Amino acid sequence: MSIDKTMKAALLTQYGAPLEIKTVTRPIPKAGEILVKMEASGVCFTDVHISRGDHASPNPLPLIMGHEGVGLVVAVGAEGGRFGIGDRVGIGYVYSACGHCRECHTGGENYCSDFDATGYSVSGCFAEYVCLRQDWATAIPDDISPMEAAPLMCAGSAAYASLKKTGLKAGDTVAIFGLSGLGQYAIQIAKQSGMRVIAVDVDQGKLDTAKNLGADDVVVANSDSIPLIKALGGADGCVNFAPVGATWPLMLAVCKPRAKIVLTAVPSDQLAFYAHELIERGLQVIGSSASNRQEMSELLQLAAHGKIKGVISGKSLDEVNSAIADLQAGRAEGRTVLKFH
Ligand SMILES: [Zn+2]
Ligand SMILES: [Zn+2]
Repeated sequence: MSIDKTMKAALLTQYGAPLEIKTVTRPIPKAGEILVKMEASGVCFTDVHISRGDHASPNPLPLIMGHEGVGLVVAVGAEGGRFGIGDRVGIGYVYSACGHCRECHTGGENYCSDFDATGYSVSGCFAEYVCLRQDWATAIPDDISPMEAAPLMCAGSAAYASLKKTGLKAGDTVAIFGLSGLGQYAIQIAKQSGMRVIAVDVDQGKLDTAKNLGADDVVVANSDSIPLIKALGGADGCVNFAPVGATWPLMLAVCKPRAKIVLTAVPSDQLAFYAHELIERGLQVIGSSASNRQEMSELLQLAAHGKIKGVISGKSLDEVNSAIADLQAGRAEGRTVLKFH
């Protein structure tokens, strides 16, 4: 297979400005690394945060963003190892972590204080080639297409990790707030796990999609949602994928005593509460960011049986700016994935 010496990439050169599509030097895999030719690369709301500068890279620009990549191994650095030429691998948000801190030793590499984030602190997947340490690449099962697999690397596995933190089991009721990409994955994962799902969003179209994906009940998020969800029996746990503070009082009101509320999306406004609301009812509030490798592989096993499907629209790398704009404006229905040729 011939490998080009240069590659097309979308560069963030200035915060708040469109990405620039340019030809740049292709990376060369070092010992322990693999070179991956991208097939598909998902666009995530984190890319919006980075591109606007509200989550600015620790390094000087330019930056290649993108952390939901799937592609084929086309070269292996010295030492060889786990992957061979032609293997399909996925690249997620955790590019690598220190490997020896308390978090890394206990399945929390995504909370390592010394982790590199793909498309944030190191070059990411909005490019034709990506180099990464093979220890941090994820093998993609044969029966998941690259377009389906790419969003599982971040959105799908973040949804899986969030749901797992609720501690809910078959027969329990989970209320899922925010029904874009992550919420859509969470509905399917919860149903696969035997839970009952109440799906909540402001958008009727997203509620219709949620119903089609298996949600048992759907509720429009407004001032009437609290009595409606209570009438459905309330929630044994809540997960929030809506990047707004408006869901917070709803979750506090509808969850049962001792429930866990998992916060995944980052609202721009501050959340307020009286400590009494949490204390008296024994509630737990848990943050959840990205996923570890175990959660990613557990999700891939579920998805390999065709039971987790993304609502995906495809675009080319040249269309990356419109993909980001759609996401920012809330126009993206599910996940947008850039397709490479
Ligand atoms: Zn992401
Ligand atoms: Zn670490």
